[in-house]
Amino acid sequence: MDLTIEQSCPGCGADIELHEDDRMVRCPFCEVDNYMLEQGARRFVLPWSLPLAIDESDLFFVPYLRFKGAIYYTTGEKVKYRLVDATRLGIGNDRLPASLRLRPQAMKVKPVVADMTGRFLPQTVKTEIVFSHATRITTLFAKEKEGNIYNRAFIGESISRIYQPYYIHQEQLFDAVDNNPLGEFSSYRIDQRSGLAAKTSWEPRFISTVCPQCADLLQGERDSLALSCNNCETMWVEQGDRFVPLQWSLVKSERRGARYLPFWKISLSSPDKNLETLGAFLRLTNQPVLVRREYDDIPFSFWIPAFKVNPRTLLQLAEKLTVIQSRIPEGTTGRLDNNYPVTLPLKEAVQSIKSVLAGAALYKKRVYPMLPKIDTSPGVTSLVYLPFSGNSHDLTQEHTLITVNAAALKFGRKL
Ligand SMILES: [Zn+2]
Ligand SMILES: [Zn+2]
Repeated sequence: MDLTIEQSCPGCGADIELHEDDRMVRCPFCEVDNYMLEQGARRFVLPWSLPLAIDESDLFFVPYLRFKGAIYYTTGEKVKYRLVDATRLGIGNDRLPASLRLRPQAMKVKPVVADMTGRFLPQTVKTEIVFSHATRITTLFAKEKEGNIYNRAFIGESISRIYQPYYIHQEQLFDAVDNNPLGEFSSYRIDQRSGLAAKTSWEPRFISTVCPQCADLLQGERDSLALSCNNCETMWVEQGDRFVPLQWSLVKSERRGARYLPFWKISLSSPDKNLETLGAFLRLTNQPVLVRREYDDIPFSFWIPAFKVNPRTLLQLAEKLTVIQSRIPEGTTGRLDNNYPVTLPLKEAVQSIKSVLAGAALYKKRVYPMLPKIDTSPGVTSLVYLPFSGNSHDLTQEHTLITVNAAALKFGRKL
């Protein structure tokens, strides 16, 4: 379940409601777009309402880590995946609740801002340890003992900190969300004085959505990670607090009404010799196709959806497209219309590479032991829009005949 976030507009200060994946913040009041920077784990607070006797400066906030995404892992027999959506206490304490349960979904959270008074307890348990506790809830590694795990990746990743507010009144600990007493404060052994004041650097930051090349306004949907300029036909992604140009192309369709879905085309910077050319890849993974001689001259790339879909669909699309990439014509640039937003960042697509390779391999005993040694650092990468057409159930890619289920696309953009 996604978080609902109450954010103040960076332009006019009005309260606007955002979804967790929103990057383009479109203010209905001042009608200005702002783009939210990627700043690592975001910090939110659960809402509180205090009785008169308690001041906001009496609050202290306990950190919980929230993990949301899919874990892919390759074991002895196949590529598996699990969805994770869990919160877990970020400090060592066995009396406080281990998780926030349904609270983050049931109420609107707010970003932590510097003028919040009260103390924020530092996270004292390492993220990896909290994560392994959180994933154990979903029995992720339950089968680990049955076979070797060759590869593991966390994709569609979102890690955030959600702070639960508490206060002390007459030696009792109180939950500031519902004002319920939780017993003798001293029995909790919490050092609330070790808490820090909120910092400006914890606040979300925004940049304006102006094309760095021609100063026209960039276009994108609320959850777009790549914005386009229809004036100078460029695409931009945020990197290091500014927009940098993205190498991109568009494979045009002859059909009317085609929907353009984005894919990351990724070659490796120092590929294993079995991943240098398409021919080598087809032989390595033992595909039941005739490996034509010209395939040994085609540099090999992984083709991975640049949008969030369920793990099964992501792997199927990536495996099929990677295997039959020779059928995809060269793209051009041009005006982008009827395109689906980029919602899966390149770095997460890169993390899925080993799962895609493992999934495409028909002779697994040969490929799986190679996985830990393969260097997946990306070399040349570009974003390619491919045309899909069809009905409300299925969309078909016209050059490769690969289909994607319309419901699977919705999964990645729950509203
Ligand atoms: Zn505004
Ligand atoms: Zn431009």
